Amino acid sequence: MCRKLGAMPAAINDVHCHFFSTPFFAALGGDAALATLGWEAPGTADALADRWVAELDRQQVSRAALIASVPGDAASVAAAVDRHPGRLVGFFMVDPTAPDAAAHAATALEGGGLRAMCLFPAMHRYHVHDERARALFDVAASKPGTAVFVHCGVLSVGVRKKLGLPSPFDIRFGNPLDLHAVALNYPQVPIIVPHFGAGLFREALMVGDLCPNVLFDTSSSNSWIKYHPGLTLGAVFRQALAVVGPGRLLFGSDSSFFPRGWVKDVYEQQSAALEAIGASAEVRDRIFGGNFNRVFPAADQHKGH
Ligand SMILES: [Zn+2]
Repeated sequence: MCRKLGAMPAAINDVHCHFFSTPFFAALGGDAALATLGWEAPGTADALADRWVAELDRQQVSRAALIASVPGDAASVAAAVDRHPGRLVGFFMVDPTAPDAAAHAATALEGGGLRAMCLFPAMHRYHVHDERARALFDVAASKPGTAVFVHCGVLSVGVRKKLGLPSPFDIRFGNPLDLHAVALNYPQVPIIVPHFGAGLFREALMVGDLCPNVLFDTSSSNSWIKYHPGLTLGAVFRQALAVVGPGRLLFGSDSSFFPRGWVKDVYEQQSAALEAIGASAEVRDRIFGGNFNRVFPAADQHKGH
């Protein structure tokens, strides 16, 4: 019954990767920015989609969610998903303070490849409970199967830092408690809070405890644990499992650029943390892949084939 320690899970699905497309870099300074960073030019959306799938193959990752990481870039990720519907799921960033944000989001979701809207309240400075954000939850609720990703807690965008660009964010808008009433109003909409709340772990757990449609992604190095004296990643998993259970944790890596590619060490750290707390193979299978497949059924299942 027990799989040996260190065994790979049944499947690895990654709920948090960024699709750094050509339009994404254009917003940061284009070729000059790429040269400064020393990163690969992404080329077309199709080329970048192929690059991603080759990397997932190399790393034995089954499926991945790719986030269009600047508002207005949903079409890039939609093209990537169109090309590899069995492997990729599309997420896209929306700024609800922009005019017609809800109408644009509704249009983006029509194609079917995009399954989650990503909100960054601290970046765009609004409360997730305000009516402009609620208009997006209305859009998600009207298209069953659509999730909403809400970044809470500490927000820093690595690529902006590396380029020396200012990040005029305001993390007062990133309190997970802002989600409570909204999550209750849209009980059918899965709401994903990345990085266990990125420093507001207690608040994220409180909302998760009260709202069964709130899930956490485990992505990144979770360096926010430095704000909690003595906290370890294993203890984070143990507490999250105790409060929301194994069905609401979605593995994520927060991979983004090439040539670095998929950040396997994040997977290895999380795998080791789960082993250290004695999580069963079944629990690990759900976190690393099963929950993803439940929330984002593969394209053919999605269409009811
Ligand atoms: Zn990220």
